[in-house]
Amino acid sequence: MEEVKEILIIGAGPAGLTAAIYAARGGSKPFVIGGVQPGQLMTSYEVENYPGFPEKLGGPQLIDNMVKQAEKFGAKIIQRDVTAVDFSSRPFKVEAGDAVYRARAVIIATGASPRWIGLESEQRLIGRGVSSCATCDGFFFRDRDVVVVGGGDAAMEETLFLARITRSVTVIHRRDKLRAERILQERAFENQKIRFQWNSVVEEILGENLVEGVRIKNVKTGEISELECQGVFVAIGYKPNTEIFRGKVEMDEKGYINVKDTTGTSVEGVFVAGDAYDYVYRQAVTAAASGCRAAIDVVKYLESIETP
Ligand code: NAP
Repeated sequence: MEEVKEILIIGAGPAGLTAAIYAARGGSKPFVIGGVQPGQLMTSYEVENYPGFPEKLGGPQLIDNMVKQAEKFGAKIIQRDVTAVDFSSRPFKVEAGDAVYRARAVIIATGASPRWIGLESEQRLIGRGVSSCATCDGFFFRDRDVVVVGGGDAAMEETLFLARITRSVTVIHRRDKLRAERILQERAFENQKIRFQWNSVVEEILGENLVEGVRIKNVKTGEISELECQGVFVAIGYKPNTEIFRGKVEMDEKGYINVKDTTGTSVEGVFVAGDAYDYVYRQAVTAAASGCRAAIDVVKYLESIETP
């Protein structure tokens, strides 16, 4: 049977990888299981606000740098989807398909995933014009008309990215004010290719096999209209990737893990970092910072159980 890992980190985004860097430098040999699906930073085209990088860099590049840095200090990183955990006895058990890992301490850093509007047509047309990632799929909409749903930072980033490639971008937002940071708003308002449809929601995505348009409802007037487009990018926020931890650690009704004593959870020896608990800040830099805190806490925890 495989040896018991000292620290097992689930998730290889900025939180998990920073935890790995700090844990490795703290004298442990962290074992990181990153999921198969790309995380939020992996789908960020440009990162302009990560301190220390005055020239913008791609999200994948930032992640790649973190991977190299963690490996340099001795972290082992693999890519598999964790399918089940057992925190009821020690060492803790973490399953990824048919592989079973055991660990003395675990850091949950599984991040969050995009939310969808919840329409049948949306699910049917994912990959056929419906997407949650402009960086991944924007290329397919060169000189086409597309729609972005949402009014936050992610929506504006997607919009600005798509405006470089597509013929036009219409932002459909349920209110008459954006939530996105001012600098992104200003860039979007200045861009001639970008239009705004305020106080509006998408009621239906039109098209049988490919997106052909959207049916929009004005929530103030009740007016229904249709807009022709070939792409629909949904950017309405995220939900935490914590389903496999339900019933294993305490979490709130939305699935965000409850934090105890800075980075601890309801199970001693199981820690949490990043968007799996943080629904307030949700930035790469705050995720990284919480990964650092979790690693420092884990190293102290391991010392405390070793030294009676
Ligand atoms: P967000 O800030 O929660 O914004 C979600 C947007 O979608 C809001 O405008 C919201 O409308 C709208 N929305 C939510 N549910 C909806 C629904 N069912 N139908 C229609 N519209 C809906 O999410 P986000 O933009 O994904 O950002 C998440 C976090 O990541 C934030 O903390 C953000 O700052 C961060 N982020 C930062 C950057 C950056 O720094 N450059 C880039 C991307 C993300 P309302 O405004 O009416 O609530």
